[in-house]
Amino acid sequence: MGIAVSPQIHPHVAEFIDQPRKMLINGRWVNAASGKTFPTYNPATGEVQATVPLASRAEMRSAVEIAAKAFREWSSVNPQRRARVMFKFKALVENNMDELAHLLSSEHGKVIADSRGDIQRGLEVIEFACGIPHLMKGEYTEGAGPGIDIYSMRQPLGVVAGITPFNFPAMIPMWMFGVAIACGNTFICKPSEKDPSVPVRLAELFMEAGAPAGVLNVVHGDKEAVDAILEDPDLQAVSFVGSSAVAEYVYSHGTARGKRVQAMGSAKNHAIIMPDADLDQVTNELMGAGYGSAGERCMAISVAVPVTDKLADALVERLKPRVECLKVAPPTDPDADYGPMVTAEHRKKVLSSIELGVKEGADLVVDGRGFSLQGYENGFFLGGSLFDRVTPEMKTYQDEIFGPVLQVARAPDFEAALALPSNHQYGNGVAIFTRDGDSAREFASKVKVGMIGINIPIPVPLAYHTFGGWKRSAFGDVNQHGPEGVRFFTRIKTVTQRWPKGGLREHPEFNIPTMI
Ligand code: NAD
Repeated sequence: MGIAVSPQIHPHVAEFIDQPRKMLINGRWVNAASGKTFPTYNPATGEVQATVPLASRAEMRSAVEIAAKAFREWSSVNPQRRARVMFKFKALVENNMDELAHLLSSEHGKVIADSRGDIQRGLEVIEFACGIPHLMKGEYTEGAGPGIDIYSMRQPLGVVAGITPFNFPAMIPMWMFGVAIACGNTFICKPSEKDPSVPVRLAELFMEAGAPAGVLNVVHGDKEAVDAILEDPDLQAVSFVGSSAVAEYVYSHGTARGKRVQAMGSAKNHAIIMPDADLDQVTNELMGAGYGSAGERCMAISVAVPVTDKLADALVERLKPRVECLKVAPPTDPDADYGPMVTAEHRKKVLSSIELGVKEGADLVVDGRGFSLQGYENGFFLGGSLFDRVTPEMKTYQDEIFGPVLQVARAPDFEAALALPSNHQYGNGVAIFTRDGDSAREFASKVKVGMIGINIPIPVPLAYHTFGGWKRSAFGDVNQHGPEGVRFFTRIKTVTQRWPKGGLREHPEFNIPTMI
């Protein structure tokens, strides 16, 4: 049993915490007329913290109508003015960083420093969106034919929506609305009902930064609200991040109704450890990437693949005492390695994966199931677990666990190690640890995964690159943020023009025009 320090909650957050959560539509605070609610918890104590109103289909429809009205003006605001809203928003978020981080931790359970990181990674996308005048510039060809010029322009789509998961309640909404709104779209954010307060607070700050009412709306909801988004005729595009089953549903239903959809899903990220790697460095990296944020990261390392048995023995020997000593504590404890899981239900799901792993015959080297924290016995805490001798036939290897559980899957050689992430159903991130450039280069070139780290355990690309996995980790062809984000939230229009000095043709041209 661990002993916790008493939590210090930010005073503004403490005042806000027990108030009912509302939606922000057309710049106004709105309660759901549906009467449906969902409880959010303080994951450290297990107590219900607030209730979230869940929108009905009709309420989602009226939010879309409001956003469609706002689009008419917002899309004609020049890009440098839209960028100015982004600049101001960035400054406001920075000024409110402490409050936002505490609010985030109070619902999610991740430690305060990690919540700051969540917000910071989202702000980097806002910084990228500040460059929208440059990013939206089209192309121009003078003299493509006799007296003919061709130019292309990028135009916003209209009303677009973002449906976000619980695990990055600041970063992922900003991935989406930052780029979409800078491009001139208006936005409906449907955050996770488990921790919806930070997206609402961000939207409030966005309005303070000068965004007109109706440009960014936060509408809470469950499947009913998601279905309303997918079926709304005025909604042009949907950006989704969450589990693969829901991502596939959103992708197939949204595209069947003619919408543009990008839907990021679940993950199982491997770290390949070559015999020449620095094992002390690798151990540190695996601890942080495997157990940080209680493993509730889509880019968490969940499988370590040491190449050769000898290396595997040495790695497990180093990891075991470190996992046993993890400091699991309330998010406000500055020394905590990680905090509680998001909900009791999610904790139960992770517990059952550990049980299944044991049944399947994996070697449970460290068992975190019995962990309890004095004074926080009802919190959703779970100790760190470590499995060795995990094999590809095991269901616990094939599925995402999304908890503080690291699995070691031994590989005899480089080829076998390369095959593991390549053959896995998910292909979000992967890492290789080696001092050999040849192996690293070959691995990066051949592995069937979207984001690769070379001696980097969590290779989340920066905002001006793009984020996206392969296989069942992403449905749709276009990544999040960076230039791909701008492409996703705009469509291109190409104009071919002629201003003939000598008048029009004398005879009709029946053949396809060529400009040879
Ligand atoms: P989730 O799929 O349960 O929920 C995501 C969103 O979908 C939420 O807004 C939720 O309200 C909605 N939703 C849930 N069930 C639904 C249903 N049946 N029909 C319609 N909508 C539904 O995901 P989560 O538990 O909030 O987040 C964790 C998952 O997200 C993990 O699988 C993680 O790997 C994944 N994730 C992926 C990425 C990525 O970029 N690939 C990033 C972060 C998280």
